[in-house]
Amino acid sequence: MTVRIVIIGGGQAGGWAAKTLRDDGFDGEICVVAQEEWDFYERPPLSKASLLEASPTLPRLFSEEAQQALNLRWYRPLRAQNIDPQAKTVALSNGESLSYDQLLIATGGRARLPGDAWATHPQVYTLRHWQDAQRLKKRLAQSQTLAIIGGGWIGLEIAASARKSGIAVTLFEQQPALCMRSVSAEVSAELLALHQQQGVDVRTGCGAIELDGGDENAVIHCDGQREIFDAVVVGIGVDLNLELARDAGLKTDRGIVVDAQGRTSDPAIFAVGDVAQHACYGLCVQSWAFAQNQAVATAKAMLDTNAPGYDDVPWLWSDQYQHNIQILGIPQPNSRTVVRREEKGPIFFSLNADGTLNQLVAFNDPRTVKLAKRWMASGRDLNAEPLGDPAFSLMSLR
Ligand code: NAP
Repeated sequence: MTVRIVIIGGGQAGGWAAKTLRDDGFDGEICVVAQEEWDFYERPPLSKASLLEASPTLPRLFSEEAQQALNLRWYRPLRAQNIDPQAKTVALSNGESLSYDQLLIATGGRARLPGDAWATHPQVYTLRHWQDAQRLKKRLAQSQTLAIIGGGWIGLEIAASARKSGIAVTLFEQQPALCMRSVSAEVSAELLALHQQQGVDVRTGCGAIELDGGDENAVIHCDGQREIFDAVVVGIGVDLNLELARDAGLKTDRGIVVDAQGRTSDPAIFAVGDVAQHACYGLCVQSWAFAQNQAVATAKAMLDTNAPGYDDVPWLWSDQYQHNIQILGIPQPNSRTVVRREEKGPIFFSLNADGTLNQLVAFNDPRTVKLAKRWMASGRDLNAEPLGDPAFSLMSLR
């Protein structure tokens, strides 16, 4: 009998899992249930090239031929409504039921909004899907002023793209610093300076925001001010699509709890990408590298129980203006020293009390990121090293 793997979710993680299953010789049936009608695509260009290029095309994950060769059975655009782990079936929104031998959950998340009124306002935009990017691009072409709610990665990348297009940008962040949850205060200050130099009006520590306005604009009320913008982009984080997993009785915490091989509390069900909690770090990393590499590791483990588990240090990158910013590791709030160094841009080393590196943030310096991966893997003590001294060669610590 043909073995069937069902993948719920047609995003980057679902795509890499499907590709890996085929690359590793799985010749059974792969069914992909996806809410979007598009083939697998990459998200990083959506806040950059897809907004800036004259005629952007779908940033495909695989060429059309490569995807054809995967021989997938698509169920799209459709929703998986419910999983029955005992019967090993998935109920779809068109009434069909799909049986599975193994199931992979790659359902990602949905953009958050500050309140219900925001969802129906014609000049409020979020950026999660290809259609969102097309809609926002169209509006930006007619806009002179843009408000961005949220000073996280989405907000900052869109701010950079809008400034490149000559749009006046005001950014509202309720925390006292930008990207506060993912980087140290020193890095937040650098990001603030970068955006201010480019003319972004950054309002950190802002109060609650109220919205009104008609079809043609949006009115923002915040901290006693009333301001009119052509459009408002909201980038205040993501609600993970965990309902299916929870209703199926799978163990969830911040995300779906998985082991290093991506296996959930049900041995026939696996989870990848944004919804899967990092097996070592206990949080949902929500990055391009995790979506790809954890999905690849999980797909391998679905076919071979002895496959190595995924234990990569969280890594993400963000392109803003002319800078490539790479972030390796998670900042630890306690016992940490941050050392700054200047190379092609600033580099920030965040050290634990024992001298091990908990985070490296490097502007325009992928070589140092590679080196830092090795330091982290070996638990190297860097306390005695003059990391901030420009005369000191980091490469001597290879
Ligand atoms: P994010 O990185 O979590 O940043 C959202 C920011 O908005 C946070 O600082 C948040 O503060 C703030 N915020 C929340 N509610 C607010 C409100 N009502 N008014 C003003 N500020 C508010 O989320 P995101 O930028 O929306 O990105 C979504 C996900 O995609 C994230 O997981 C992100 O890492 C990922 N992403 C990654 C990349 C990349 O890897 N280059 C690029 C884009 C997106 P609190 O911390 O208090 O909630």
